[in-house]
Amino acid sequence: LNRHFSLELNRLILLLSLCFALGFWLGQPYFIPLLGLGGYTIWNLLQMRNVSSWLADSKFKAPPEPIGYWGDLCDELYRYQQSHEKEKNQLRADIAYLRDSFTSLTDAIVMIDPQGCIQWCNDAAQHILGLGLPQDLGQNITHLFREPAFVQFYESMNYQEPLKVQGPTAEEKVLKVQITTFGQGNRLIFARDITDIARLEAIRQDFVSNVSHELRTPLTVIMGYLDNFLLLSDQVPQIQAPLEQMSQQANRMSKLINELLDLSRLETLPAVQHTTVVDMALLVERIVAEVKIALEAEGKHHQLTTSTEPLLVFGDETELHSVLLNLVMNACKYTPEIGTIHVSAFTQQGKGVVSVQDNGVGIDPVDAARLTERFYRVDKSRSINTGGTGLGLAIVKRILIRHEAKLSIESQIGQGSCFICTFPPHKLAETRSADSADTNAKLRSS
Ligand code: ADP
Repeated sequence: LNRHFSLELNRLILLLSLCFALGFWLGQPYFIPLLGLGGYTIWNLLQMRNVSSWLADSKFKAPPEPIGYWGDLCDELYRYQQSHEKEKNQLRADIAYLRDSFTSLTDAIVMIDPQGCIQWCNDAAQHILGLGLPQDLGQNITHLFREPAFVQFYESMNYQEPLKVQGPTAEEKVLKVQITTFGQGNRLIFARDITDIARLEAIRQDFVSNVSHELRTPLTVIMGYLDNFLLLSDQVPQIQAPLEQMSQQANRMSKLINELLDLSRLETLPAVQHTTVVDMALLVERIVAEVKIALEAEGKHHQLTTSTEPLLVFGDETELHSVLLNLVMNACKYTPEIGTIHVSAFTQQGKGVVSVQDNGVGIDPVDAARLTERFYRVDKSRSINTGGTGLGLAIVKRILIRHEAKLSIESQIGQGSCFICTFPPHKLAETRSADSADTNAKLRSS
């Protein structure tokens, strides 16, 4: 356009020069140039009017036929409009294509705008979530899907873990809901019908729990007899060693059954809103004292240290006790006897942190990712030698999920490991509140 502008300027200079020449020739050196300038201005105004009425027409017709600078300007604008229109059509086609592919999905997809209103949903959202377009457009999703667990999840803005929830269209329907955020506060909700998977999972849990129950009674009888035989075994020395081994294995089996039952119970317990406060600093000190006594009894010499800050967590004391005991016992199991284990409780960026650090054998990062799976052991033989069942960390993870807490593992082979439990800010009780102080006092006195 710069080139067109200089051309126009040249045209104006030429016109003025001609006018001056004509003016001098006719003896009107001012009037003729003024006349020329006036004519030029009127012509420009007419062109301008043509262009603006063309621009005002939104149908993108071909431009009018002005000449000079205005003609070039119109051509440029028209070219720009055409390419813009092409891009717009391409984008429209892309959106339609994406919507079509979303629509054909069997999972429900709902788009939520920054105000929390439904912007769009696919067909599957109708039978999975009971939503439909256009009647639910602009509605708040929590007014239509009122399940408290979903509402709490939706409003928490913490969407790291998916939510398993009862569907709104039928009671027996189980949904797995995931939410992601995008753009400026927009949200995308994915809901999948996992009723069949949930049913199979329930059957599996029942099976494990029933088998464990059924095994417990005969095992208790066997263990009772073994204890009696062991008492009498000094009269028949050749059977003492086999009896001791049988008793050891029976104890291991009993521990395994109890842990399997614990895990099944934790998996089937409904989610709870904890109202009691647990003093984690006190719990840490108490567990470390317990473990020290147990280690002394076994003649082991690990060095156990603690560093604690006031940390009050809404939770179940028995469950959190089990978490810490498991982690501290593991640290002792997988650390050579001269090793050190440090347990700490503190707050960091508003979150509650409890960590158990050792300088033991450490874990390969590949294994670290799988440690919380049932029966996963890094070194099966070593774990069996240490009396491990492979269920401890699965129980720890389950309990932490029930407390909305996260378990992270930092470790390096040969350098030791650090197991970190992080509690979200809303699970922490106000350290200075009177209520907490009361609970604290109660805990200390118990
Ligand atoms: P186990 O009863 O076998 O100890 P866990 O579930 O408690 O089962 O632990 C699973 C595996 O994780 C263990 O077999 C062990 O290999 C590894 N592990 C757990 N804690 C530690 C630790 N502090 N240091 C090294 N390895 C560990």
